Amino acid sequence: MTKMANGTMSSPSTREESSVVQDLKDPKIQADPKDPKIQDRKEFKTVIVWNNVAKFVVLHVLGLHALVLFPAVAPQTVAFSVLCSLLGGLGVTAGAHRLWTHRSYKARLPLRVFLMLINCLAMENSIYVWTRDHRVHHKFSETSADPHDATRGLFFSHMGWLMVRKHPDVKEKGSKIDLSDLQNDPVVMFQHRHYLPLAMTLCIVLPTLIPIYFWGEHPWTSYVWSILSYLVTLHGTWSVNSLAHMFGSRPYDVNINPSENKFVSFVAIGEGFHNYHHTYPHDYSASEYRWSLNLTTLFIDTMAWCGMAYDRRSVSKEAVSERIKRTGPGSQLVAAKPSTDVYY
Ligand SMILES: [Zn+2]
Ligand SMILES: [Zn+2]
Repeated sequence: MTKMANGTMSSPSTREESSVVQDLKDPKIQADPKDPKIQDRKEFKTVIVWNNVAKFVVLHVLGLHALVLFPAVAPQTVAFSVLCSLLGGLGVTAGAHRLWTHRSYKARLPLRVFLMLINCLAMENSIYVWTRDHRVHHKFSETSADPHDATRGLFFSHMGWLMVRKHPDVKEKGSKIDLSDLQNDPVVMFQHRHYLPLAMTLCIVLPTLIPIYFWGEHPWTSYVWSILSYLVTLHGTWSVNSLAHMFGSRPYDVNINPSENKFVSFVAIGEGFHNYHHTYPHDYSASEYRWSLNLTTLFIDTMAWCGMAYDRRSVSKEAVSERIKRTGPGSQLVAAKPSTDVYY
């Protein structure tokens, strides 16, 4: 059985599943298979999900073909693709990430519905699944229970993790994450129950039909440009997990890998201030610098101005400077334990 991308897909074949079970029988893993701190990578056998690999290859071939067609594409189609990428991105950043994963602000029903719909446009799996994975990522960052553990390499943390079977620790810890708040949100559960038709319609079908119907774009061109727009959103999100976990400065906490990365902030509309974000996951701005390279914060503030968003959580300047003294560069506690702040 196969699902969508982010996120994408897949359920393992029986043969793949049995291979994971075999791995768990290894005596070294049996010593304490539930401890994500134990890096059993020598024993854990990576199982490639070829179905997912094939889907990503096809998507990227279509995306490259869209670029080849650039001279023939209508300017409206290009502008529309950029708009779709931005909306899909906001559905992830303002929706799945800052609202549903971290509860960093509250949103009234119309805004929640809007965010749910544009989240479908990003097709990075349902909010419910995305949130579970992201809460596990924060709680077990850079361990074998982290779904896109950056210590397994740049490609793995970027998109490779979507092409292999999950590490058993990811499943184990993920199954214990509290998602009761999402289960009590009818907007989230509606999307989760009807995810595939909703996502296909909003991510591919409508973005293909609109340029054909309104300004006469060629159907194939319109289709491949909808795929390109989808890929842009995907790579923007993925860069947070890969680039912002490897490259950049760590002004707030030198004990963790997540870093401040301006390029990622640009392509992921405000999510590249990642050292700050992992230090203060509940700050609605995911940054100390509000609107700077942070379209998502501008959007949330605009929604607050309209009365649609409220109870935005943030961290005082004093608390931030105290934290920098304790765990920032030059602090005496470089070797101390990482943050014990709440993880969402
Ligand atoms: Zn992260
Ligand atoms: Zn986060």
